[in-house]
Amino acid sequence: MERTFIMVKPDGVQRGLVGEIIKRFEQKGYQLLAMEMVHPTREILEEHYQEHKGKPFFPKIVDFMSSGPVVAMVWYGNEVIKTGRKMLGATNPLESAPGTIRGDFGVVTGRNICHGSDSAESAEREIKLWFPQGVTMYDNTRTLQQWLYE
Ligand code: UDP
Ligand code: MG
Repeated sequence: MERTFIMVKPDGVQRGLVGEIIKRFEQKGYQLLAMEMVHPTREILEEHYQEHKGKPFFPKIVDFMSSGPVVAMVWYGNEVIKTGRKMLGATNPLESAPGTIRGDFGVVTGRNICHGSDSAESAEREIKLWFPQGVTMYDNTRTLQQWLYE
């Protein structure tokens, strides 16, 4: 069992896709641990996208991601990091399979609707960055888990 950081980007928020994205993770069987709508600063985004510093698209994503509110979430469950990435689809929505979020709703890489952590290390780093106050594990897991896990 693991946690991942999923974020609806400003385009996803403006297009009214927050509920759709939450719905897909809920229906899959994952558990929402934390969620916050926030208008991110350039500082947090530069930290979030630190691996891309120096690349030609870096200033563009920081501009775009700081252009409006995003919805930051922590999701929990069996292999949620890798499966969450699969549910998002490939970075370029034109290469994302139909049935994925980016494949169903996007057409360009710079407007690909959502973010998902790509490894256990980035998940924990991103969760700490976006939820510095910590994430509470509420005691509602047992009722859900008996229907999802053997
Ligand atoms: N991005 C972009 N142009 C590119 C590559 C990436 O605008 O050529 C943006 C895109 O929004 C992507 C984000 O930068 O989601 C981070 O890139 P990464 O390669 O980490 O893709 P992801 O992990 O989001 O699939
Ligand atoms: Mg990435």
